[in-house]
Amino acid sequence: MNSNKMVKTRMAPSPTGELHVGSLGIALKNYAWAKKNNGHFILRIEDTDQTREVPGATDRLKEIFKTFGLVWDEGPDVGGPNGPYIQSHRLSLYRERAEELVESGNAYYCFCSQERLEKVRQKMIEKKLPPKYDRHCRNISGEEAKARVSSGESHVIRLKVPDNQEVKFNDLLRGEIIFNSDTVDDQVLIKSDNFPTYHLAVVVDDYEMEITHVFRGEEWISSTPKHILLYHAFGWELPVFCHFPVYLNPDGKGKMSKRKGTVSAQSFLDRGYLPEALLNFLMILGWSPENEEEIMDLDRYIAEFDPADVSMKSVVFDLKKLDWINGIYIRKLSTEELEKKLASFLPPDFPNERMPEILPLVAERLVTLADIEELTSFFYRDIKVDDQQLLKKSNPEEVKSQLNATITTLKQLKVWNAAIIEAAVRQLQEENSWKRSQYFMMLRVAATGKTATPPLFETLAVIGKEKVLQRYQHSMEKA
Ligand code: GLU
Repeated sequence: MNSNKMVKTRMAPSPTGELHVGSLGIALKNYAWAKKNNGHFILRIEDTDQTREVPGATDRLKEIFKTFGLVWDEGPDVGGPNGPYIQSHRLSLYRERAEELVESGNAYYCFCSQERLEKVRQKMIEKKLPPKYDRHCRNISGEEAKARVSSGESHVIRLKVPDNQEVKFNDLLRGEIIFNSDTVDDQVLIKSDNFPTYHLAVVVDDYEMEITHVFRGEEWISSTPKHILLYHAFGWELPVFCHFPVYLNPDGKGKMSKRKGTVSAQSFLDRGYLPEALLNFLMILGWSPENEEEIMDLDRYIAEFDPADVSMKSVVFDLKKLDWINGIYIRKLSTEELEKKLASFLPPDFPNERMPEILPLVAERLVTLADIEELTSFFYRDIKVDDQQLLKKSNPEEVKSQLNATITTLKQLKVWNAAIIEAAVRQLQEENSWKRSQYFMMLRVAATGKTATPPLFETLAVIGKEKVLQRYQHSMEKA
């Protein structure tokens, strides 16, 4: 690669659904590398397989990149010197390029019917050979082929793959990869509907858009030989290739996929992960900065990231670690910011006017924003108290008498705040020599239905005197 060229990386999603979190990890690396080198990050929409296109997917892809701060320098909406950046708007270009290859003797028109191709395939399978096109149309003369094309005969354009040639490329992460051209089919470049195949379009576009570095997932390695042969056929210089490992499912088994839960980047936001936290998690998945300090923002990542340092081994998408990072990012938010981000996670019956007193009690315990309901529901919803938990380390008589005395004491309080409740309750416990841990846990369970809550006395204060007394009365009656 000519080192004077501006570094350009790209993300080239197909609008066939939501952005996979693995693709977000790849986009992040492309973005960081472009920024680190004062280059451009390009967004290209690869929509040549129109049968798989999902309506609205392009808009959602653009939106999700923006949400994560991966703003493109060239691409849809913003344009750029080598647009358009949507492949279906570039069809004539692919045709032109493919015809150039026909002219130079590197590609040919193929008129074989689907039926014939299927028969050829079956024969190959019977002979236990990898199913490849038998090159039936490869030797049709130029004039004959042109005449048949002009007469409107249905056709595709195929690459004339050279025989028994050693072809190689250097993968930034994996080193030299060598393959023999005999393993590559005379692949279709232009389909009979005049649309390019992915292989042609990706090579033409990466060249036309002056992409210097192709960073993508390792699932594309098997396609790369086809791309290299195309670069050779055109006589173009290769970009730098780097294929990153895929993520493994959180249980460590197999490639992270839809079958084991939701995997779209959006689904993580819906589950209450902050974009900054998910991005930080993706940064350190299979890579770590020099000082091993794992919490970092995009700027530091850009400064330190080097694709060559990414682990070649697939790493587990460790949700525990993501939770840990998310908690750290939640704790970094100011109260106003946190309230804003929580807004879409609050259940409809959440008492907004009580937010200022409830939030400080639970903010520390939020792992994801979606935890807000579970952590706060006992403040405003009826609770269910489990008898076993209520009577734990005690017996019905003792619990009844503890609750009875507590109700009498709390009823007399003129002022209802944590300090005053605490003083009264502690005095009662000491006077009666109750076991503190049992008594306090029982008070917690009877007031909230839970064994883990924010600090007991603050919690009682916020639940409110009337509600606490009601709940204690209720538990006393059923104990
Ligand atoms: N359109 C491909 C995808 O959906 C792009 C692969 C590549 O980066 O070459 O992932």
